[in-house]
Amino acid sequence: MAGKLYLAPTPIGNLGDISRRAVETLEAADFIAAEDTRVTVKLLNHLELKKPMVAYHRHNCDTAGPAILRRLEDGESCALVTDAGTPAISDPGEDLVALCTAAGIEVEAIPGPCALIVALSASGLPTGRFTFEGFLPLNKKNRRAQLDGLKAEERTMIFYEAPHKLRTTLEDLADTFGSERPIAVCRELTKLHEEILRLTIGEAAERYADQEPRGEFVLVVAGCPPQIVEGDEDAALARAEQLRQEGLPLKRAAAQAAEEYKVKKRWIYNQITEKESE
Ligand code: SAM
Repeated sequence: MAGKLYLAPTPIGNLGDISRRAVETLEAADFIAAEDTRVTVKLLNHLELKKPMVAYHRHNCDTAGPAILRRLEDGESCALVTDAGTPAISDPGEDLVALCTAAGIEVEAIPGPCALIVALSASGLPTGRFTFEGFLPLNKKNRRAQLDGLKAEERTMIFYEAPHKLRTTLEDLADTFGSERPIAVCRELTKLHEEILRLTIGEAAERYADQEPRGEFVLVVAGCPPQIVEGDEDAALARAEQLRQEGLPLKRAAAQAAEEYKVKKRWIYNQITEKESE
């Protein structure tokens, strides 16, 4: 019988954040596939665990992936870990999961630390709908294309960024979304020097103009305010439903959407109660 691939999230800074289930998974697996075995061995030492490890990273995934797959097909179980956070989120674990699922190997994901979720939840920006953009492309043309595609994006947007590219990225975000757009700059999450700045993109750029960015960053950017066409009943209804999802009681959601779109509050209210009673 084939083995299983387990995705075991590891702390993004605070060692206390590893879950009991993640530890049990590391303990039970036949071997661990790690992004950097030197980083993972430190975690294993902290957990007082000894386990055979293989390296699986961006530079060897083309050969290491099929080798891991063969071992899984032969019945071994593998726990995949990255340097920090949830495997397969902005790292080559994504390819191993694709390889295994395509080959019919069972994949089990253990929930755990993930920088984008920590940042989003603490950002103070709307969390009901969001888009994760990962790292922006380095290539100027591709970067511009990705940012241009986000100009009208109404959902909250989340970006990963390396410290040495932070300034350029803040400039590019200001060019794309305007310097007044709210942003949460989340630095060193869960670590001793955790810092979450909730300001505008312009203010963030100014702050880092004369302060060297250090540490790891997640940028959470507010979406574009919805383009309101007065009297648009469908849009008003959708807006009221969105406000409901965000936790507003029906009456207040209907009133707010009616005010924004200049349509009848009673109409929105009736539409939603009718839908909800179906
Ligand atoms: N798989 C990881 C996860 O679940 O978040 C992400 C891996 S990605 C290669 C690394 C990026 O995640 C960093 O460049 C940074 O943008 C973000 N990141 C990871 N840990 C972080 C932390 N403690 N604080 C802020 N950002 C962090």
